[in-house]
Amino acid sequence: MLGLMQDWPLLVHKIIDHAALYHGGREVVSRSVEGPIVRTDYRAIAARARKVAHALDRLGIRLGDRVATLAWNTARHIEAWYGIAGIGAIYHTLNPRLFPDQLVYIANHAGDKVLFFDATFAGLVEALAPRLPGIELFVCLTDAAHLPKANIPNLVAYEEFIAGADDHFAWKEFDEHTACGLCYTSGTTGNPKGVLYSHRSNVLHAFIAGQADAMGLRAVDCVLPVVPMFHANAWAMAFVAPMIGAKLVLPGARLDGDSLCELLTGEKVTMTAAVPTVWLALLHYLEKTGKTLPDMKRVLIGGAAAPRAMIETFEKKYGIAVVHAWGMTEMSPLGTLGTLKPAIAELPYERQLDYKVKQGHPPFGVEMKIVDDDDRELPRDGRAFGRLKVRGPAVAKAYFRGEGEGAFGPDDWFDTGDVATIDADGYMTITDRAKDVIKSGGEWISTIEIENIAVGHPAIAEAAVIGIAHPKWDERPLLVVVLKPGLHATREEMLAYLSGRIARWWMPDDVVFVDAIPHTATGKIQKMALRERFGQYRLPTAAA
Ligand code: AMP
Repeated sequence: MLGLMQDWPLLVHKIIDHAALYHGGREVVSRSVEGPIVRTDYRAIAARARKVAHALDRLGIRLGDRVATLAWNTARHIEAWYGIAGIGAIYHTLNPRLFPDQLVYIANHAGDKVLFFDATFAGLVEALAPRLPGIELFVCLTDAAHLPKANIPNLVAYEEFIAGADDHFAWKEFDEHTACGLCYTSGTTGNPKGVLYSHRSNVLHAFIAGQADAMGLRAVDCVLPVVPMFHANAWAMAFVAPMIGAKLVLPGARLDGDSLCELLTGEKVTMTAAVPTVWLALLHYLEKTGKTLPDMKRVLIGGAAAPRAMIETFEKKYGIAVVHAWGMTEMSPLGTLGTLKPAIAELPYERQLDYKVKQGHPPFGVEMKIVDDDDRELPRDGRAFGRLKVRGPAVAKAYFRGEGEGAFGPDDWFDTGDVATIDADGYMTITDRAKDVIKSGGEWISTIEIENIAVGHPAIAEAAVIGIAHPKWDERPLLVVVLKPGLHATREEMLAYLSGRIARWWMPDDVVFVDAIPHTATGKIQKMALRERFGQYRLPTAAA
């Protein structure tokens, strides 16, 4: 017998309609690409999103068509997302930090028909345009006065494009399983793969992310997603904030410490989110200037492991609670969040920190398990570590156009490519990417754990551990570190610092100091580039 409840399709544009009706005057503040700080609200965004929908419809964009965006976090970008989705077309976020060849591959693979882009990227778009034959219209997210003088065919300013369009244009009607968004994973091996979100998965993911022990956003909050909309949906913030009526602050193109601090303080931001490298720069800026962030209550750190020292600095020095989160593009992206369960909240602070450095526990809506090489489930004892598999209503079941089939197992269990432990309380710890883990004498060494401890050294800004070939042990760890400006440390000091903090056989066989560690387009340490750079490196222990 079926239930007798209504079929109320979970459609993304219903979120912005709800925000317009119940939180209509709630502010959305952007640092515009043109320069000034621009203020609007959910009511205006919803109306302008309908204009985008109408303008695209006039152009002939139909259900299932892909409309790309190459843009920073601004109100216009959000309007574009909702407008595209509202006619059943698919917003496709392009990451401007990728190489031009990758962007060309991705846009052509996606079959994008229109490209919305920020004026910042006019030069890039000019170079790409001849290689993107499928794109019929280039829409620069600005007004006619600021339209860059670039040699781009079929170029129009966004404000001209939506001028005259109907701000009461009716959304199209379609099933909640209709595709809504597309984002390619940066994929360090093989070609990038497209993750195709549906309206249903995006709405459910926003519900999941918004839970009190997940992001816990409320209408009284003011949230600043530093994490770009082109990095896995800005971790759901563009959906959760309007859903619950939080004020939204969008940082545009300027993500440096000074610019961020100005917005965080000036707009009284209570919650923000980004990858550790962004926080590294902000903390450095705060330390240098002696500034504080009095309104900030919570910071979400994810995308790469949050080091213990970073968590401690935010919490102890600035009184800002850290929520460490893990996820991936394929998961919309949230998988786990490190909020404290009651028994852990009662522990002394130092013990709580042991849990905060873990990647957290899954909210309802995410299932997870760890398995061995024969796909047998491993115990949840905090010690056994294996491949992390996940499933849920906001987890991918295939990649766009059938790429990368191997990752999707029976019963929808998706192999994340991460290696992890899960403890008895359900807290998961990423020990490594499967391809980064160091295999020493048949045992696995977690590079992330060593890196986390190494950056606790007061002179160290950033650390990476990679495996170097070893005649006796197969691989042994090499610690690569970047010093903080003006500070100094020696190889021996680093080894002495690690000694006693990690297992003896995990101790790096050597330490090298570098000027910078390379990062991927989504801010992760580029281990592959480091492995290439140190491919011929000979460890002092190799002769033994
Ligand atoms: P992306 O799809 O670009 O967001 O990358 C997802 C990958 O980033 C995951 O599979 C992890 O390897 C890594 N990652 C994300 N969050 C964390 C975290 N908190 N700690 C360690 N690794 C993380």
